[in-house]
Amino acid sequence: HTDVPAMDAYWMPFTANRQFKKNPRLLARAEGMHYWTADGRQILDGVAGLWCVNAGHGRPRIVRAIQEQAAEMDYAPPFQMGHPKAFELAERVAALAPAGLNRVFFTNSGSEAVETALKIALAYHRSRGEASRTRLIGRERGYHGVNFGGISVGGMVANRKMFGSLLSGVDHIRHTHDPARNAYSRGQPPHGVELADDIERLVALHDASTIAAVIVEPVAGSTGVLIPPIGYLQRLRELCDKHGILLIFDEVITGFGRTGSPFAAQTFGVTPDLMTLAKGITNGCVPMGAVLASQKIHDTFMGGPEHLIELFHGYTYSAHPLACAAGLATLDTYAEEGLLSRAATLQETFADALHTLREAPHVIDIRNIGLVGGIELAPRPGEPGKRAFEVFLDCYERGLLIRTTGDTIALSPPLIIEPAHIGQIVETLGAALRRVA
Ligand code: PMP
Repeated sequence: HTDVPAMDAYWMPFTANRQFKKNPRLLARAEGMHYWTADGRQILDGVAGLWCVNAGHGRPRIVRAIQEQAAEMDYAPPFQMGHPKAFELAERVAALAPAGLNRVFFTNSGSEAVETALKIALAYHRSRGEASRTRLIGRERGYHGVNFGGISVGGMVANRKMFGSLLSGVDHIRHTHDPARNAYSRGQPPHGVELADDIERLVALHDASTIAAVIVEPVAGSTGVLIPPIGYLQRLRELCDKHGILLIFDEVITGFGRTGSPFAAQTFGVTPDLMTLAKGITNGCVPMGAVLASQKIHDTFMGGPEHLIELFHGYTYSAHPLACAAGLATLDTYAEEGLLSRAATLQETFADALHTLREAPHVIDIRNIGLVGGIELAPRPGEPGKRAFEVFLDCYERGLLIRTTGDTIALSPPLIIEPAHIGQIVETLGAALRRVA
C-alpha cells in the first residue's frame, strides 16, 4: 500500500521532471529503429534511446546472451576473482581502442567511469612522486555525468552551483562553440583551433606541476553536439605532453561507432591517456561503463609505492556477468554488421538531409559528424530552451523521438539506420519547426 498514485511515487529529482508529470510519455516496447508507446503508437528512435542503443533495439543475440548468462551465473564478486567473460570483454574492448589503451576497468555507468578516471589520474601522478599534481581541468559546456567529480569538472554550471566547493582545484578551459565563425560547417568546423591554448592560461596561473589532467568529450554531446575545430584535439594533446598533464577523453557518447570509427580518438587521430566509455558498450541493454588506461599509467600505478597498494576502488557490480555477456554479444553484433564504420558511410547522406533544414524556421546552425547531429535554434526571447522543447513534444506526437539540450536538437540514431529513416527524421523535424512559434 502507498498513499500516492504510481505517477507521483516515481520521482526523479530534477526540475525538468515537472514537464514529464504534465505530459507523461510511457514507452512500452522497442524493436529495431522503433519504440512503441504504452498506448500502441510507433515512434522512430532518433537518439538511440539516450545515445546508447547503437545496434538498434531488441537484438535477439544480445537478449539471448543476457538470458543465458542469468541462468548460468547471475553474479560473481569482482575482487580477488573474476569470470571468463570479464577477461574476454576487456580484451575485446582494448582491441577496438587506439593502440596503447589496453587496460580496462569496468564500472556501471558513465558517471562512475568519470570518477574512476579522475582518481586514476591523481593516483598516477602520486605514484610517480608528483603529489602536487592535483588540479583538474574540464571545459565549459562539458558534461561528465552527475556524480561529484563529474559535476566539478563538468561545465554545466547549473548542475553544480548549489553544491558548494565540490572538488577543489578545478578549472575550466573555454568551449569551442562559435556559431558566428563556424555556422553550418559540415564535419569539423574550420575555426577555433587556438582555443586549445587556453590550457596555457591555466598553466601560467597555477604552474604545470600542479595540474593532473584535462578531461574533454571529443564531441560534446549533452550540451549541444559541439564538434571540435580542425586540429583542436591535436593541439590539446601537444600541450598536455609539453606540460606532463594527462589527457582524458570522455567517450561515453562518442564510443562504439558514433563518429564513424570505434572511438572518436580514431576519427580525430588523437590518443588520450585515459578514456571513459559506457552506453554503447552493451548497446544500452545492461548498465555498464569502463575506463581504458594506457600501459604507462597501468605500469606506474601497479609499480607504485605502498600507499597505493592500500587504495581500494571498485564497485560491487564491476564486470557484472550480465553486462559482460551483453557486451560480448553487442561487440559481435557490431562486428558482424559492420556497424562501427557505418556512421562514416552514412555521414554525407545524414549531413545532406540535415542541411535541407537550413531554411526551416528558427534554425541558426547545423552541425554533424558521423551519425551525430545538432540543429541549433534561435532561442525564443526570454524563454531559453522552450522552443526546442516544443519541437521535441511536437516530434513525439508525430512519431519521432529526438533529444534537446538547451535550444539545440540532438540526433544520434541507431547505427542500423537506413536512408529512408533519415528522410523521415528531417521531414518530421521540418513539420515540427514550421509548427512551433
Ligand atoms: N559522460 C558523458 C560524455 C555523457 O554523455 C554521459 C551521459 N550522457 C555521462 C558521462 C554519464 O553517463 P551515465 O549517465 O551513464 O552516468
